[in-house]
Amino acid sequence: MTIKKTYPKILLLIVSSSVFFILLYFSLYYYTAQAEKHVYRDSMKQFNNEINELLVLNSKPIFTTINNDTNWDEFVNFTKTKDQHWYDETIGNEMSIYQADYMGVYDTDKNFITHTATSKIKSIDFVPKQAMIQLNKSGLSRFYMKLPEGLVEVFGASIHPSNDPLKNKTKPAGYFFVARVLDIPFFIDLQKLTSSDISVLNGTKEIIKGKNNIYTEIDLKDSQNNIVSKLLFKRKFDVYFENVTNILYLIIFAFFANLVIDLIYTRKLVYRPLDLIAQVLENGDKKAIEELKVTTGEFSSIGKLFEEHSIQEKELIKSKLKAEESDKLKSTFLANLSHEIRTPMNAIIGFTDLLLTTELKKGERIEYLKIIEKSGENLISIIDDLIEMSKIDAHQVKPNYTTVNLESCIKELYETIKITIPKSKNIDFYIIENDESAIHNVITDEIKIKQIIVNLVTNAIKFTEEGSVAFGYEIDKKNAKINFTIKDTGPGIDKNKYKFVFDRFKRVDSEISNKAGGLGLGLAISKAYVEMMEGTISLDSEVGKGSVFSFSIPLKIPKDQKDIIQLSKRKEVFVAKDIGTILIAEDDNINFLLFQKIMQLKKYKIIRAVNGQEAVAICQNNPDINLVLMDIKMPVMDGFEALEKIKAFRPELLIIAQTAYASVEDQKKMQEAGFFDHITKPINKEILFEMINKAFQNRS
Ligand code: ADP
Repeated sequence: MTIKKTYPKILLLIVSSSVFFILLYFSLYYYTAQAEKHVYRDSMKQFNNEINELLVLNSKPIFTTINNDTNWDEFVNFTKTKDQHWYDETIGNEMSIYQADYMGVYDTDKNFITHTATSKIKSIDFVPKQAMIQLNKSGLSRFYMKLPEGLVEVFGASIHPSNDPLKNKTKPAGYFFVARVLDIPFFIDLQKLTSSDISVLNGTKEIIKGKNNIYTEIDLKDSQNNIVSKLLFKRKFDVYFENVTNILYLIIFAFFANLVIDLIYTRKLVYRPLDLIAQVLENGDKKAIEELKVTTGEFSSIGKLFEEHSIQEKELIKSKLKAEESDKLKSTFLANLSHEIRTPMNAIIGFTDLLLTTELKKGERIEYLKIIEKSGENLISIIDDLIEMSKIDAHQVKPNYTTVNLESCIKELYETIKITIPKSKNIDFYIIENDESAIHNVITDEIKIKQIIVNLVTNAIKFTEEGSVAFGYEIDKKNAKINFTIKDTGPGIDKNKYKFVFDRFKRVDSEISNKAGGLGLGLAISKAYVEMMEGTISLDSEVGKGSVFSFSIPLKIPKDQKDIIQLSKRKEVFVAKDIGTILIAEDDNINFLLFQKIMQLKKYKIIRAVNGQEAVAICQNNPDINLVLMDIKMPVMDGFEALEKIKAFRPELLIIAQTAYASVEDQKKMQEAGFFDHITKPINKEILFEMINKAFQNRS
């Protein structure tokens, strides 16, 4: 499955919303720029009007004065008399009133009469005739001139008698001009008046205008209306649109920065995790899961869920494989079981048939019977192993710790196993001597220790054709352990099979192993026993050279070392005595027949009871009964109940349990119930005789 990428869509969304906002920002910017232009233009216009009006206001006092002076009859008279004295006393004294630098008078023919000047103007009679012609029409005028002393502002008026205040009824009697130099003090005053900076523009040189100011240009014209110079007025423009623009720029910058950050973080926080999820879903990428786990928020939880899922999946696969393996094992086990049961059964049925149907010599008959006996024993051991394994699985088997003499235990085992080694095998069988023989008694589960050793030594003997099989133990006081070793010079086991030979129903698939037979339970039971006693079991082997099985259990030394268990004496020679009558409680006819035949060998007198109730009754009625062989599982009344009843009236009577219940727990139960001893089916006649012997010795 291909997963559609989300990132391009997210990108498109971000970009399209960005475009929208950019357009919004630009339209705002455009609107602001337009508004700025508008306000600027209006302000300029307003400024221009204001300056013009202020200039008019500035020249008003001069105009008023000059108008008054030139409507004076005496002044008209002066243009004719040219009385210098009168002039000096009147007009000539008015320089300060005019705040001017030059005053000049012309007669009606435009001829220069006189002048008054400050030190600022040295030039005389500089007013052009044209200006006077102009005055004929207007009566009053103002114009500018460039003199060597600088730029001057000239006010002119035609002189008329006082009855012609508007200077339009009479002809001019002369002309009067007042001029002032436009010098720095003048401009300072004008700057104050107009609240502006003023600069004189000369020529065509343009002045660079900034946006923070408003400007207006005033043309200074001469009498001919030609521009003599220009004044540039500049005033601070307080509406700071520049700031608005700067804020806009800042917003746009912030917007783009935000866009970049958005993209980076969307990629990091959304797209990357989504991409990782896609990778996990597509191909279960482990690295992607790890990376997803260290992301933030929900994606991290998703990563953890993926991890859990992956673990569960692994476990499921493992369980599935295990189930398949166990299924396979079951089939192999069933095939093995069938083989292992059929082989001895074949021998039993086959040789029994031969015994029944053919004439045989005594030697042959004994040989066949031995085969039947051996096959029966094999069957029993298979059944024992199966039952034990299922009990271990059901946790019904628990260690039963008692004080055990290891030396006797090992020797006893040696004796018991030694006689089972087939004569055909050339095996040197011995006990590995240990240095620590001082400690004899330890606390352990004797039966289980024996069972483990029997399993391992029997295997060693089973797989070894010639060479040696040895076993023994060592006390490791330092580590508080008892180490047992069982070694052989058999075929050995491949290193990579070490682990699995301890698994149930696992056998090495080899010719020797197949020939030797077995269910693959011995080592599994041994391992379970060792672990039950908090110990460990291991194997060291080399193919072709042999195997060493070792197991160790914790060393627990009893406080009282006096309680030494004596080596059990080898079987004593049985001496038949007249021991009276033995009651055999047995419901099964064949089993009773077997007892009958065995007892005949020793000429014991026997009585049969078919159930527990009958056994109780017989014991009550026959005081000469000295021993009871009591079956446990019987109809009407079982062996335990019968024992209880008999003990009630004959507590001294010895009762031996004979049963097919073979487990350690059953044995314990029988011991606790008050049976003198117990013997498990199939009955071994030697053991039975020894037990009867012991019982009678005990009685006497
Ligand atoms: P089995 O009843 O098959 O002997 P075990 O559990 O006792 O079952 O042993 C499992 C397998 O381990 C055996 O089938 C055999 O292949 C291998 N094995 C056990 N002990 C020895 C030994 N001493 N030498 C060689 N192989 C051994």
